[in-house]
Amino acid sequence: MTQTTDPATESTADDASPQARVNAWLADFESALRARDAEKAAGMFATDCFWRDLVSFTWNIKTVEGRDGVAEMLRACLDHIDPSGFRTTEPPAEADGVTEAWIEFETATGRGRGHLRLKDEGAWTLLTTLYELKGHEEPRGGARPRGAEHGVNRARETWAERREREARELGYQTQPYVLVVGGGQGGIALSARLRQLGVPTIVIDKRGRPGDQWRKRYKSLCLHDPVWYDHLPYIKFPDNWPVFSPKDKIADWLESYTKVMELNYWTNTEAKSARYDEATREWHVEVERDGQPVVLRPKQLVLATGMSGKPNVPDIPGMDTFRGDQHHSSAHPGPDAYAGKRAVVIGSNNSAFDICGALWEKGADVTMVQRSSTHIVRSDTLMEIGLGALYSEEAVASGMTTEKADMVFASLPYRIMHEFQIPLYDQMRERDQDFYDRLEKSGFRHDWGDDGSGLFMKYLRRGSGYYIDVGAADLVANGDVKLVQGQVTELTEDSVLLDDGTTLPADVVVYATGYGSMNGWAADLIDQETADRVGKVWGLGSNTTKDPGPWEGEQRNMWKPTQQPALWFHGGNLHQSRHYSLYLALQLKARAEGIPTPVYGLQEVHHTS
Ligand SMILES: Cc1cc2nc3c(=O)[nH]c(=O)nc-3n(C[C@H](O)[C@H](O)[C@H](O)COP(=O)(O)OP(=O)(O)OC[C@H]3O[C@@H](n4cnc5c(N)ncnc54)[C@H](O)[C@@H]3O)c2cc1C
Repeated sequence: MTQTTDPATESTADDASPQARVNAWLADFESALRARDAEKAAGMFATDCFWRDLVSFTWNIKTVEGRDGVAEMLRACLDHIDPSGFRTTEPPAEADGVTEAWIEFETATGRGRGHLRLKDEGAWTLLTTLYELKGHEEPRGGARPRGAEHGVNRARETWAERREREARELGYQTQPYVLVVGGGQGGIALSARLRQLGVPTIVIDKRGRPGDQWRKRYKSLCLHDPVWYDHLPYIKFPDNWPVFSPKDKIADWLESYTKVMELNYWTNTEAKSARYDEATREWHVEVERDGQPVVLRPKQLVLATGMSGKPNVPDIPGMDTFRGDQHHSSAHPGPDAYAGKRAVVIGSNNSAFDICGALWEKGADVTMVQRSSTHIVRSDTLMEIGLGALYSEEAVASGMTTEKADMVFASLPYRIMHEFQIPLYDQMRERDQDFYDRLEKSGFRHDWGDDGSGLFMKYLRRGSGYYIDVGAADLVANGDVKLVQGQVTELTEDSVLLDDGTTLPADVVVYATGYGSMNGWAADLIDQETADRVGKVWGLGSNTTKDPGPWEGEQRNMWKPTQQPALWFHGGNLHQSRHYSLYLALQLKARAEGIPTPVYGLQEVHHTS
């Protein structure tokens, strides 16, 4: 995405070429925008069309649909956004009646990049994203900091002295502009970007070391996503990094990253309460740092407390009488203490399978309780068919960069993404038919998502309901891990009872029962009223299981303004954390610099949890 072609001056390609077609479209589009003619610009889209904007036009993360949606958005945004300079950055490609082009453009305050898909009728999809603010560019490349200060200076302060002073003063003599609560991969990536943008930021975590979010998980855990999908911003994993990072290795990487990216990361620091002062427009956050109370007054508060961080622990009669060990999967210590013991794992998704597998390897007698159907896809198959084109060694060899892959991913509107996913999962089903047959024979209830669109859509819609199989599914299929179906109704001193009367003797019970909506963190930290005002976090409104409608078009409340001023949510998997931290960081930077940020289409609230 480097070579640019200005449609106004370089329309040299023959008229029927993809380049000429895109140039002509961009030139007409720009002139309609310049004339503030929203209807004309909207008329250049196909009847069924999608414009996904990441901050550049809407100061929001927003997809508008149909010509009416485009026109309405443009009427609200054009005057202050003042877009211009649309041009391609590489020769467009054409396939199956769709011309695809990578583009860049400018707005009144920033520079953007995007992607266009043109059909005969007009634009089918348009992605516009902000990547930098004018006058506030990151100090990269030729603009990198000098480091050394040549010459003589009696008041010289070394880099280390400056860092120490900053660390000493920030939060005490000076206040951070942003407070990020939660220093997992999400909080770390966002803080790194804010640091590069010069926004004073503190990231706090109640745990003892960066990376403890992974270190403290069950000991057999390795990342389920492959390395090409997992890079953090600025520093890529080296070429010899394992495909699936073991949890302690990724933890060490996060810890090192925190240090070299010079983050103001407060360990052993728990946010206890937060309150927004409407008059001063700042937060009043009480934290406890190494046991000592500190009050922080940031202007912006980001909850990066994890979508897989708020355990759903069921309330089952008899839990207090059970004499064995019982814990949520997030607190599972690993299998070592359970060799030869009877383990009952409640749940049948990722954590349940990983934990069952590790317990079985250690010689425990393991039973999985399946409560509802689960989607399983084999890791190798997922890598090859699901991710390979964008995130794989082959993709790298063919010149695909992480940044470009992220943009390709982002360019597909959520409304139609399942249509692209369904054929991939059909291929996966065919490839692993034998495996699915065996699984079915074992009595396991398997699904492919409500509409057959598989794992990624389940993740975006509900963040649960699947297992990326790295081996444990075979244990269930061949009966090594016993499988029972049903709802748990009671625990006795030494067993788990199910609704059909089954009794499962148990020495340890693991609740692999998933995690709650992230606005639960807002309820804990701020109050229930604020959490309800903000509403459910995550999901698309697809009207599928656990993702009630109405249709939202984007993930609820993630990385964008919420109904509570100056409150933001950040997180997701490593890919989302990397990509969307840029847009959240730019929104925060703009506010720090006093750049007007009129939000188009502020998140509406239809569900409180
Ligand atoms: C078993 C398992 C396997 C997974 N595998 C993958 C994978 O392969 N790839 C992937 O990308 N994702 C994976 N995930 C999802 C994973 O949870 C998230 O990707 C990741 O941990 C989320 O990072 P985060 O920074 O958003 O939240 P977290 O890592 O959960 O970090 C949130 C932090 O907030 C802190 N916190 C909470 N409340 C407070 C408070 N009041 N004060 C201070 N600190 C607070 C917590 O201590 C925690 O450290 C997996 C999750 C699980 C459970």
